[in-house]
Amino acid sequence: MAIAALAVTALSIVSPLGRAEAAADPVLAYGARIAGDDARTRIVIDMDREPAFSVHYLDNPVRVVVDLPATAFGFPAADLKPIGLFKDIRYGTMDQDSARIVLTATKPVKLVMAKVQADENGKGHRLVLDAEMLPAAQFAELVKQQSWTNDDTAKDVGPVVPMEKPDSGIFLVAVDAGHGGIDTGATASDGVTQEKEITLAYAKLLADRLNAQPGIKAFLTRDKDEYLSLSQRVTIARQNHASLFISLHADTLKQKDIRGATVYTISDKASDKLASEVADRENNSDQLAGAETQAQPAAVADILMDLTRRETQAFSISLAQDVLTSFNGQIAMINNPHRHAGFRVLQAPDVPSILLELGFLSNKEDEKLLLDPDWRQKLVGQLTNAVKQYRASIVANGG
Ligand SMILES: [Zn+2]
Repeated sequence: MAIAALAVTALSIVSPLGRAEAAADPVLAYGARIAGDDARTRIVIDMDREPAFSVHYLDNPVRVVVDLPATAFGFPAADLKPIGLFKDIRYGTMDQDSARIVLTATKPVKLVMAKVQADENGKGHRLVLDAEMLPAAQFAELVKQQSWTNDDTAKDVGPVVPMEKPDSGIFLVAVDAGHGGIDTGATASDGVTQEKEITLAYAKLLADRLNAQPGIKAFLTRDKDEYLSLSQRVTIARQNHASLFISLHADTLKQKDIRGATVYTISDKASDKLASEVADRENNSDQLAGAETQAQPAAVADILMDLTRRETQAFSISLAQDVLTSFNGQIAMINNPHRHAGFRVLQAPDVPSILLELGFLSNKEDEKLLLDPDWRQKLVGQLTNAVKQYRASIVANGG
């Protein structure tokens, strides 16, 4: 198909087929849904039968183009109101035999899944398009590699390429400096030092120490003072096939006498009131930054939970225990230092994840330590030992 054929802006938002020129029997798209956020967005379109389709990408602006056979779009336009990764969604007839959906994105994206599946009730089919954000260079590569041939079919959905997997022998750790940019996190009692600076200093040192270990590689979700939504942090870890995700924080509590490190893993129910308060505050990061957040419709949330494999959870807990063992007698910890709550940043279904509160900026002694470069070295050293221990146990178990 020629690029010149992309007069997509001329498409009407909903274009019922003129009966005269309509294909004899267009596919009926009778329902549509969209859900997600600024890192992942899913579009589902209900159809009365299985269409062949192909996917292409365009740059400037970033667009995902889905070509379909003649299709009658019969759902209300409001059902595909652009949200999340998409700022404009158009669909309509191209010619007698074809229709097109054009998704204009807010940033480089790729479809990590594009497929047609049968409905449970056997009545119709569903076109499912799962988009994820993508580094700009990889999107450019995606655009370059694709071909605009006519023989793309549903079996060959075009350039839906998985990210490159790291060497199988390498143990990759995603180190996440909590907060950043407009989301400053907590502030120290000096009124100047912010949590986002402390977490970045610890994260950089941790990545350096881990990278010095044979067989271990680490990368930062952010290496400068920039805002990342919670979902973006999770997506970056998953796209890079991280073996572990460690999010670093140093928050404040109303109870100024509470001090020491805490390790959190994810769970539906919080282990205690303090854990629940900390999780609420952390999950509020996106709202504070004015980022678009919206409750995920139940269906999408369920799918995400389904994917949260018990195995990943067991590994997360095992990592938390290795951290506590390594800290024991070396780093001050609060009572019951392993707690759990519904942290959104820990929701990667396939990457064991912990959130480490290094200490509390609301406590005088903790604050002094958090700002002390010697203590930083010591804490990061113990954390590095914990990761080494975790990896050794995985290798010993043939993982
Ligand atoms: Zn925090």
